[in-house]
Amino acid sequence: MLERLTVGDFLYREGDTNDCAYVIAEGNVILFRDEDGTRRIIERRGSGSIVGEVSVLRGLPRAVSVQAETNCIVFRISAEQIAARFADLDPLMTACIETTIGFIESMNSSDKASAIEPKQPTNLEVLIDRLQLEADLEEGLKRNEFHMNYQPIYDLARERIAGFEALMRWMHPALGFVRPDHFIAVAEEMGSISKLTNFAVSNACAALADFRRKSGSDGLFMSINMTARDLMREDFIGFLCNQIDLNALEPCDVKLEITESALVSSTSIVEFNLNQLSRLGFGISVDDFGTGYSNLGHLHLLPLTALKVDRVFANGAHKSKINLSIVRMLISLAKELGVDVIAEGLENRNDVDALKNLGCRYFQGYHFYKPMPFEETLANLLAAENPAAE
Ligand code: C2E
Ligand code: CA
Ligand code: CA
Repeated sequence: MLERLTVGDFLYREGDTNDCAYVIAEGNVILFRDEDGTRRIIERRGSGSIVGEVSVLRGLPRAVSVQAETNCIVFRISAEQIAARFADLDPLMTACIETTIGFIESMNSSDKASAIEPKQPTNLEVLIDRLQLEADLEEGLKRNEFHMNYQPIYDLARERIAGFEALMRWMHPALGFVRPDHFIAVAEEMGSISKLTNFAVSNACAALADFRRKSGSDGLFMSINMTARDLMREDFIGFLCNQIDLNALEPCDVKLEITESALVSSTSIVEFNLNQLSRLGFGISVDDFGTGYSNLGHLHLLPLTALKVDRVFANGAHKSKINLSIVRMLISLAKELGVDVIAEGLENRNDVDALKNLGCRYFQGYHFYKPMPFEETLANLLAAENPAAE
């Protein structure tokens, strides 16, 4: 909420209780303390600065008074808004902020003994675990601890494997199997996702070329998961095209999967690159569709080729009227958009039948195949292509 102050107005006074901080949009304010009747100026803050944040984060009364030095416009931020963002912060940033605030408090404290008391960040264990995982990710890449699994995507109309989704696996030497959604999110935040994506792209393209050569099926495709961060990389399209050429594939043999939630918050660079990839002929699938609250009006502006119905709707659809209605709606939306539908997470025949009756053609789930290492996927592909040889 915007507030206007004229010269001399007080934003708040020392000792006031508080429930908000302020971002200064325009003008300057003076921070001061009253010391035995004398005003001691502590600092001047201008546009772009924030005031009142320390007492909000600490839940303490205002430590200083703040007065407008010029006409000002300030933006009020509630304690709840700050608390919600603080709770979502990366643990390293939480430790930086808590340590800095502790330092400011020590400098302002008359009790100098407390200034040399070491202060512990509140989430020390979380922070150390997280930093260790980040270091292990980098090391793991060098030590070949990652590999790709492939999960076949089944075409029910033609009763054969249509393609695969490449899914990354990390066997950590001490922790064992680490869930990919966990380490991918960490890698995305710390910036090393590009190395993992390059690893996925080069392995998945080579695997597709092998699957095609060894099975003689040249219509098979490979789906590879992308994050929004990958689609912001300047070198990404070049890298991808290079891998396609190296393996004698065409762009249309590869589908890039991006989650609906990543698309919702995507930047114009991401959309620009998606359009570029689409012009080159790559498939573009919206992953986990139905969970990301996308603006449907915006969806048809994106160069999509498939929607992947999330398993929360597909799995159990035959038992739940609501899920079945949602899937029906998603399938008709896909038809309107002129894109394929792939149902994810199918674990039983009843759900497959229910979705088939709604017009769904492509299926991915344990009912058909689990994600498997390369050799096992190849064996299953060969068995499916040539059942008599079994
Ligand atoms: P996702 O892209 O939605 O992948 C599908 C997930 O559903 C996979 O989990 C797969 O193993 C699981 N799944 C498939 N069929 C069934 C089923 O019938 N029942 C159940 N319960 N699950 C099924 P996974 O392999 O654990 O991957 C989790 C997520 O991690 C992926 O979700 C994807 O978001 C991310 N991920 C995995 N590999 C990569 C990668 O190489 N790059 C990126 N950026 N993300 C990846
Ligand atoms: Ca996916
Ligand atoms: Ca998915």
